[in-house]
Amino acid sequence: MGARRERVKVLVVDDRPENLLVMENILKPLDVEVLTAGSGPDALSLLVDHDVALVILDVQMPGMDGFEVAEVMRKNPLTAHVPIIFVTAISKEEQYVFRGYEVGAVDYLAKPIDTHVLLSKVRVFIQLYEQKRELKEKTEELERKISELEETKRKLEELNRKLEDLSSLDGLTGIPNRRRFDELLEMEWKRSARNGTWISLCMLDIDHFKSFNDNYGHLEGDECLKKVAAVLKRGIWRPADVVARFGGEEFAVILPETDLEGASVVGRRLREDVEREKIPHRYSSVSDVVTVSVGVAGCIPPPGSLPSRLIEEADRMLYEAKKSGRNRVVASPSPLRLG
Ligand SMILES: [Mg+2]
Repeated sequence: MGARRERVKVLVVDDRPENLLVMENILKPLDVEVLTAGSGPDALSLLVDHDVALVILDVQMPGMDGFEVAEVMRKNPLTAHVPIIFVTAISKEEQYVFRGYEVGAVDYLAKPIDTHVLLSKVRVFIQLYEQKRELKEKTEELERKISELEETKRKLEELNRKLEDLSSLDGLTGIPNRRRFDELLEMEWKRSARNGTWISLCMLDIDHFKSFNDNYGHLEGDECLKKVAAVLKRGIWRPADVVARFGGEEFAVILPETDLEGASVVGRRLREDVEREKIPHRYSSVSDVVTVSVGVAGCIPPPGSLPSRLIEEADRMLYEAKKSGRNRVVASPSPLRLG
Protein backbone atom coordinates (compact mmCIF):
# COMPACT_ATOMS: atom_id res chain seq x y z
CA MET A 1 0.00 0.00 0.00
CA GLY A 2 1.15 3.52 -0.84
CA ALA A 3 4.13 2.29 -2.84
CA ARG A 4 2.83 3.58 -6.13
CA ARG A 5 2.50 7.29 -5.98
CA GLU A 6 0.53 9.56 -8.25
CA ARG A 7 2.70 11.87 -10.32
CA VAL A 8 2.99 15.37 -8.95
CA LYS A 9 0.71 17.83 -10.75
CA VAL A 10 1.59 21.34 -11.83
CA LEU A 11 -1.02 23.75 -13.12
CA VAL A 12 -0.01 26.32 -15.75
CA VAL A 13 -2.39 29.22 -16.39
CA ASP A 14 -2.01 31.55 -19.35
CA ASP A 15 -4.51 33.20 -21.69
CA ARG A 16 -2.31 32.51 -24.72
CA PRO A 17 -2.23 28.90 -25.98
CA GLU A 18 1.26 29.31 -27.44
CA ASN A 19 2.59 30.27 -24.02
CA LEU A 20 1.00 27.15 -22.52
CA LEU A 21 2.73 25.02 -25.14
CA VAL A 22 6.08 26.65 -24.44
CA MET A 23 5.63 26.09 -20.73
CA GLU A 24 4.67 22.44 -21.21
CA ASN A 25 7.85 21.93 -23.22
CA ILE A 26 10.00 23.60 -20.59
CA LEU A 27 8.56 21.40 -17.86
CA LYS A 28 8.99 18.17 -19.82
CA PRO A 29 12.31 17.17 -18.23
CA LEU A 30 10.57 17.08 -14.86
CA ASP A 31 8.57 14.00 -14.05
CA VAL A 32 5.36 15.93 -13.48
CA GLU A 33 1.86 15.95 -14.91
CA VAL A 34 1.20 19.38 -16.43
CA LEU A 35 -2.36 20.66 -16.31
CA THR A 36 -3.19 23.76 -18.34
CA ALA A 37 -5.90 26.41 -18.11
CA GLY A 38 -6.56 29.30 -20.49
CA SER A 39 -8.29 31.56 -18.00
CA GLY A 40 -8.69 32.31 -14.29
CA PRO A 41 -12.10 30.62 -13.94
CA ASP A 42 -10.83 27.52 -15.80
CA ALA A 43 -7.86 27.37 -13.43
CA LEU A 44 -10.07 27.62 -10.36
CA SER A 45 -12.37 24.86 -11.54
CA LEU A 46 -9.37 22.59 -12.23
CA LEU A 47 -8.15 23.28 -8.70
CA VAL A 48 -11.41 21.91 -7.33
CA ASP A 49 -10.66 18.47 -8.79
CA HIS A 50 -6.87 18.31 -8.62
CA ASP A 51 -4.38 18.46 -5.82
CA VAL A 52 -1.51 20.36 -7.40
CA ALA A 53 1.99 21.00 -6.13
CA LEU A 54 2.27 24.39 -7.79
CA VAL A 55 0.42 26.93 -9.92
CA ILE A 56 2.37 28.88 -12.54
CA LEU A 57 0.11 31.84 -13.01
CA ASP A 58 0.15 34.46 -15.77
CA VAL A 59 -0.60 37.84 -14.24
CA GLN A 60 -1.94 39.61 -17.31
CA MET A 61 -5.08 37.86 -18.44
CA PRO A 62 -8.34 39.33 -19.75
CA GLY A 63 -11.34 39.14 -17.43
CA MET A 64 -9.85 37.71 -14.27
CA ASP A 65 -6.16 38.47 -13.87
CA GLY A 66 -3.58 36.37 -12.02
CA PHE A 67 -3.79 38.35 -8.79
CA GLU A 68 -7.56 37.91 -8.69
CA VAL A 69 -7.16 34.16 -9.19
CA ALA A 70 -4.63 34.10 -6.34
CA GLU A 71 -7.01 36.08 -4.15
CA VAL A 72 -9.75 33.48 -4.65
CA MET A 73 -7.23 30.68 -3.93
CA ARG A 74 -6.15 32.42 -0.73
CA LYS A 75 -9.71 32.50 0.56
CA ASN A 76 -10.39 28.83 -0.09
CA PRO A 77 -8.92 26.53 2.57
CA LEU A 78 -8.41 23.83 -0.07
CA THR A 79 -6.11 26.01 -2.16
CA ALA A 80 -4.78 28.52 0.38
CA HIS A 81 -1.51 26.62 0.73
CA VAL A 82 -0.83 25.86 -2.92
CA PRO A 83 2.34 27.73 -3.95
CA ILE A 84 2.13 30.19 -6.83
CA ILE A 85 4.74 31.42 -9.29
CA PHE A 86 3.44 34.62 -10.89
CA VAL A 87 4.62 35.11 -14.44
CA THR A 88 4.64 38.78 -15.27
CA ALA A 89 6.08 41.30 -17.68
CA ILE A 90 5.53 44.22 -15.31
CA SER A 91 8.38 46.00 -13.61
CA LYS A 92 9.95 44.89 -10.36
CA GLU A 93 8.39 47.84 -8.51
CA GLU A 94 4.92 46.70 -9.47
CA GLN A 95 5.57 43.20 -8.20
CA TYR A 96 4.79 42.01 -4.69
CA VAL A 97 1.34 43.56 -4.83
CA PHE A 98 -0.16 40.27 -3.87
CA ARG A 99 -0.15 39.99 -0.09
CA GLY A 100 -1.59 37.86 2.66
CA TYR A 101 -0.66 34.57 1.06
CA GLU A 102 1.32 31.98 2.97
CA VAL A 103 4.89 33.15 3.49
CA GLY A 104 7.32 31.44 1.13
CA ALA A 105 4.55 30.16 -1.12
CA VAL A 106 4.79 32.96 -3.66
CA ASP A 107 7.46 33.65 -6.23
CA TYR A 108 7.81 35.79 -9.31
CA LEU A 109 9.16 35.14 -12.75
CA ALA A 110 9.77 37.81 -15.34
CA LYS A 111 8.86 37.55 -18.98
CA PRO A 112 10.46 36.55 -21.24
CA ILE A 113 10.86 33.31 -19.40
CA ASP A 114 14.32 32.02 -18.66
CA THR A 115 14.04 28.23 -18.94
CA HIS A 116 16.78 27.58 -16.46
CA VAL A 117 15.37 29.90 -13.80
CA LEU A 118 11.86 28.55 -14.20
CA LEU A 119 13.02 24.93 -13.89
CA SER A 120 15.05 25.59 -10.77
CA LYS A 121 12.16 27.42 -9.10
CA VAL A 122 9.68 24.69 -10.00
CA ARG A 123 12.06 22.01 -8.71
CA VAL A 124 12.23 23.69 -5.30
CA PHE A 125 8.45 23.79 -4.96
CA ILE A 126 8.05 20.19 -6.11
CA GLN A 127 10.62 19.01 -3.60
CA LEU A 128 8.78 20.82 -0.84
CA TYR A 129 5.50 19.31 -1.97
CA GLU A 130 6.94 15.79 -2.01
CA GLN A 131 8.42 16.20 1.44
CA LYS A 132 5.08 17.44 2.71
CA ARG A 133 3.25 14.56 1.06
CA GLU A 134 5.67 12.03 2.51
CA LEU A 135 5.23 13.45 6.00
CA LYS A 136 1.47 13.38 5.58
CA GLU A 137 1.57 9.77 4.44
CA LYS A 138 3.78 8.78 7.34
CA THR A 139 1.49 10.55 9.78
CA GLU A 140 -1.52 8.81 8.30
CA GLU A 141 0.23 5.45 8.46
CA LEU A 142 1.14 6.04 12.08
CA GLU A 143 -2.42 7.01 12.89
CA ARG A 144 -3.66 3.89 11.16
CA LYS A 145 -1.25 1.72 13.12
CA ILE A 146 -2.24 3.37 16.36
CA SER A 147 -5.91 2.78 15.74
CA GLU A 148 -5.14 -0.83 14.77
CA LEU A 149 -3.27 -1.29 18.03
CA GLU A 150 -6.10 0.23 19.99
CA GLU A 151 -8.54 -2.11 18.29
CA THR A 152 -6.34 -5.13 19.09
CA LYS A 153 -6.03 -4.02 22.70
CA ARG A 154 -9.78 -3.59 22.96
CA LYS A 155 -10.38 -7.07 21.53
CA LEU A 156 -7.85 -8.58 23.93
CA GLU A 157 -9.49 -6.94 26.90
CA GLU A 158 -12.88 -8.18 25.77
CA LEU A 159 -11.48 -11.69 25.37
CA ASN A 160 -9.93 -11.57 28.83
CA ARG A 161 -13.23 -10.46 30.30
CA LYS A 162 -15.01 -13.34 28.59
CA LEU A 163 -12.40 -15.81 29.77
CA GLU A 164 -12.67 -14.50 33.28
CA ASP A 165 -16.45 -14.81 33.17
CA LEU A 166 -16.10 -18.42 32.09
CA SER A 167 -13.55 -19.12 34.75
CA SER A 168 -14.33 -19.39 38.42
CA LEU A 169 -11.01 -17.91 39.47
CA ASP A 170 -10.01 -14.27 39.63
CA GLY A 171 -7.43 -13.64 36.91
CA LEU A 172 -5.17 -11.49 39.08
CA THR A 173 -5.17 -13.19 42.48
CA GLY A 174 -6.03 -16.78 41.54
CA ILE A 175 -8.64 -17.07 44.29
CA PRO A 176 -12.37 -17.62 43.52
CA ASN A 177 -13.92 -14.66 41.72
CA ARG A 178 -17.19 -12.88 42.44
CA ARG A 179 -19.20 -15.23 40.25
CA ARG A 180 -17.84 -18.29 42.06
CA PHE A 181 -18.34 -16.58 45.41
CA ASP A 182 -22.04 -16.05 44.65
CA GLU A 183 -22.43 -19.74 43.71
CA LEU A 184 -20.59 -20.99 46.79
CA LEU A 185 -22.41 -18.67 49.17
CA GLU A 186 -25.77 -19.76 47.80
CA MET A 187 -24.79 -23.40 48.11
CA GLU A 188 -23.53 -23.05 51.69
CA TRP A 189 -26.50 -20.87 52.60
CA LYS A 190 -28.95 -23.52 51.45
CA ARG A 191 -27.04 -26.23 53.24
CA SER A 192 -27.11 -24.21 56.46
CA ALA A 193 -30.84 -23.55 56.04
CA ARG A 194 -31.45 -27.27 55.58
CA ASN A 195 -29.34 -28.27 58.54
CA GLY A 196 -30.32 -25.37 60.77
CA THR A 197 -26.66 -24.41 61.26
CA TRP A 198 -24.79 -21.14 61.34
CA ILE A 199 -23.18 -19.41 58.40
CA SER A 200 -21.07 -16.27 58.70
CA LEU A 201 -19.43 -13.91 56.32
CA CYS A 202 -16.40 -11.62 56.64
CA MET A 203 -16.08 -8.73 54.25
CA LEU A 204 -12.55 -7.29 54.05
CA ASP A 205 -11.38 -4.12 52.37
CA ILE A 206 -7.82 -2.84 51.98
CA ASP A 207 -7.44 0.50 53.79
CA HIS A 208 -6.58 3.49 51.59
CA PHE A 209 -6.05 1.33 48.56
CA LYS A 210 -6.84 4.20 46.21
CA SER A 211 -3.95 6.26 47.52
CA PHE A 212 -1.75 3.14 47.34
CA ASN A 213 -2.58 2.84 43.63
CA ASP A 214 -2.26 6.57 43.03
CA ASN A 215 1.18 6.76 44.62
CA TYR A 216 2.80 3.41 43.84
CA GLY A 217 1.09 2.84 40.48
CA HIS A 218 -1.34 0.21 39.28
CA LEU A 219 1.27 -2.53 38.84
CA GLU A 220 2.26 -2.24 42.51
CA GLY A 221 -1.44 -2.08 43.33
CA ASP A 222 -1.93 -5.40 41.57
CA GLU A 223 1.00 -6.87 43.49
CA CYS A 224 -0.55 -5.69 46.72
CA LEU A 225 -3.87 -7.35 45.86
CA LYS A 226 -2.05 -10.60 45.06
CA LYS A 227 -0.15 -10.54 48.36
CA VAL A 228 -3.24 -9.80 50.43
CA ALA A 229 -5.15 -12.57 48.63
CA ALA A 230 -2.32 -15.01 49.39
CA VAL A 231 -2.28 -14.00 53.07
CA LEU A 232 -6.04 -14.47 53.36
CA LYS A 233 -5.90 -17.82 51.61
CA ARG A 234 -3.18 -18.98 54.00
CA GLY A 235 -5.27 -17.82 56.96
CA ILE A 236 -8.22 -20.06 56.11
CA TRP A 237 -7.84 -23.68 57.18
CA ARG A 238 -11.12 -25.53 57.22
CA PRO A 239 -12.02 -27.15 53.90
CA ALA A 240 -15.45 -25.55 53.63
CA ASP A 241 -14.17 -22.04 54.32
CA VAL A 242 -13.71 -19.94 51.21
CA VAL A 243 -11.91 -16.68 50.55
CA ALA A 244 -12.90 -14.90 47.33
CA ARG A 245 -12.20 -11.64 45.60
CA PHE A 246 -15.43 -9.75 45.94
CA GLY A 247 -14.37 -6.93 43.63
CA GLY A 248 -11.72 -4.21 43.46
CA GLU A 249 -9.84 -4.23 46.76
CA GLU A 250 -12.64 -6.07 48.57
CA PHE A 251 -12.44 -9.71 49.67
CA ALA A 252 -15.04 -11.99 51.24
CA VAL A 253 -14.68 -15.05 53.45
CA ILE A 254 -17.52 -17.58 53.69
CA LEU A 255 -17.51 -19.43 57.00
CA PRO A 256 -20.05 -22.29 57.16
CA GLU A 257 -20.94 -23.72 60.56
CA THR A 258 -19.43 -20.67 62.24
CA ASP A 259 -21.27 -18.33 64.58
CA LEU A 260 -20.62 -14.59 64.99
CA GLU A 261 -18.07 -15.12 67.72
CA GLY A 262 -16.12 -17.67 65.71
CA ALA A 263 -16.28 -15.49 62.61
CA SER A 264 -14.98 -12.53 64.61
CA VAL A 265 -12.01 -14.62 65.70
CA VAL A 266 -11.26 -15.47 62.07
CA GLY A 267 -11.73 -11.81 61.06
CA ARG A 268 -9.33 -10.59 63.74
CA ARG A 269 -6.75 -13.19 62.80
CA LEU A 270 -6.92 -12.26 59.11
CA ARG A 271 -6.56 -8.56 59.95
CA GLU A 272 -3.44 -9.36 61.99
CA ASP A 273 -2.05 -11.61 59.25
CA VAL A 274 -2.33 -8.81 56.68
CA GLU A 275 -0.69 -6.30 59.01
CA ARG A 276 2.14 -8.73 59.77
CA GLU A 277 2.84 -9.12 56.06
CA LYS A 278 4.30 -5.59 56.28
CA ILE A 279 3.53 -4.44 52.75
CA PRO A 280 4.77 -0.81 52.87
CA HIS A 281 2.07 1.83 52.51
CA ARG A 282 3.48 5.28 53.21
CA TYR A 283 0.24 6.93 52.12
CA SER A 284 -2.10 5.29 54.61
CA SER A 285 -3.40 7.39 57.48
CA VAL A 286 -3.74 4.40 59.82
CA SER A 287 -0.38 2.65 59.49
CA ASP A 288 2.83 2.58 57.50
CA VAL A 289 1.91 -0.85 56.13
CA VAL A 290 -1.10 -2.20 54.26
CA THR A 291 -4.03 -2.99 56.55
CA VAL A 292 -7.60 -4.19 56.15
CA SER A 293 -10.92 -3.31 57.68
CA VAL A 294 -13.28 -6.19 58.34
CA GLY A 295 -17.04 -6.45 58.71
CA VAL A 296 -18.61 -9.63 60.12
CA ALA A 297 -22.21 -10.86 59.96
CA GLY A 298 -23.85 -14.24 60.45
CA CYS A 299 -27.06 -16.15 61.11
CA ILE A 300 -28.87 -19.44 60.92
CA PRO A 301 -30.73 -18.93 57.66
CA PRO A 302 -34.47 -19.62 57.65
CA PRO A 303 -35.60 -22.00 54.89
CA GLY A 304 -36.33 -20.32 51.57
CA SER A 305 -34.36 -17.16 52.39
CA LEU A 306 -31.65 -15.58 50.25
CA PRO A 307 -28.03 -14.79 51.20
CA SER A 308 -28.02 -11.25 49.77
CA ARG A 309 -29.04 -9.77 53.15
CA LEU A 310 -26.01 -11.42 54.76
CA ILE A 311 -23.72 -9.67 52.27
CA GLU A 312 -25.48 -6.37 52.97
CA GLU A 313 -25.09 -6.78 56.71
CA ALA A 314 -21.40 -7.73 56.51
CA ASP A 315 -20.87 -4.78 54.20
CA ARG A 316 -22.62 -2.52 56.70
CA MET A 317 -20.28 -3.73 59.44
CA LEU A 318 -17.32 -3.16 57.14
CA TYR A 319 -18.52 0.40 56.67
CA GLU A 320 -18.67 0.79 60.47
CA ALA A 321 -15.10 -0.51 60.72
CA LYS A 322 -13.98 2.06 58.16
CA LYS A 323 -15.90 4.85 59.82
CA SER A 324 -14.54 4.10 63.26
CA GLY A 325 -10.90 4.32 62.17
CA ARG A 326 -10.05 1.42 59.82
CA ASN A 327 -7.62 -1.48 60.45
CA ARG A 328 -10.16 -3.12 62.73
CA VAL A 329 -12.90 -5.69 62.87
CA VAL A 330 -16.53 -4.81 63.50
CA ALA A 331 -18.97 -7.68 63.98
CA SER A 332 -22.71 -7.46 63.88
CA PRO A 333 -23.93 -7.32 67.54
CA SER A 334 -26.60 -9.92 66.89
CA PRO A 335 -27.47 -12.60 64.33
CA LEU A 336 -29.03 -11.29 61.17
CA ARG A 337 -32.84 -11.37 61.38
CA LEU A 338 -34.60 -12.56 58.25
CA GLY A 339 -38.21 -12.99 57.28
MG1 LIG B 1 -1.26 36.96 -20.50
